[in-house]
Amino acid sequence: MAIGSLPNTEWLEGSGLTVGDGLVCDEFGAATPGVYGAGDVAWWHNPLFGTRMRIEHRTNAAEQGVAAARNLLTPKARKPFAPVPYFWSDQYGMKIQAYGYLRGHDEATVVEGDLASRRFVTAYRSRGRLTGVLAGVLAVGMPPKAIRAWRQSVALRVAWREVVSAARAA
Ligand SMILES: Cc1cc2nc3c(=O)[nH]c(=O)nc-3n(C[C@H](O)[C@H](O)[C@H](O)COP(=O)(O)OP(=O)(O)OC[C@H]3O[C@@H](n4cnc5c(N)ncnc54)[C@H](O)[C@@H]3O)c2cc1C
Repeated sequence: MAIGSLPNTEWLEGSGLTVGDGLVCDEFGAATPGVYGAGDVAWWHNPLFGTRMRIEHRTNAAEQGVAAARNLLTPKARKPFAPVPYFWSDQYGMKIQAYGYLRGHDEATVVEGDLASRRFVTAYRSRGRLTGVLAGVLAVGMPPKAIRAWRQSVALRVAWREVVSAARAA
């Protein structure tokens, strides 16, 4: 059961920083020129997906911390933080892994395996265009290499029709 969570941002009240669904940061992770956000608290603009996101995953906290430190230390050579978000978790003997942004999607379809065997990869279609693009994939009970192959497709935001036809061909 997922009960949801809220970022603990009360301590930022009165700081002059803007808080929405977390600390509002730009694509470089900056809340102001000298203040950066990283991890669960950061609500930053991910240019790869063209949207603001706040990711509550261990991997993202580590990668975003490194990116924020780099941008703070090299202000003239800052790079946007534009990852394909990734997480894994072991729940009741099952490995769950995901790449991409799995919120606000229009459609989810099993592209490998099947639900009955509890081993599957599900692809998520995002809204926007006529046929949509691949927004992310989630795997349950699959080895890491089974889902790793999808990472590039998520990064490239491939057309949904390609995802469906690849699944049919498999
Ligand atoms: C039950 C649970 C299970 C999870 N399972 C997974 C999983 O399987 N896979 C996965 O990828 N992610 C998982 N996560 C999410 C993952 O733990 C977080 O995304 C990650 O820890 C975020 O790191 P962070 O450094 O941003 O924040 P945190 O790890 O929350 O660190 C923030 C720190 O700031 C401190 N702090 C807060 N306020 C103040 C203040 N005013 N002054 C000083 N210090 C302060 C806190 O005490 C804390 O130590 C899970 C989270 C929970 C709660």
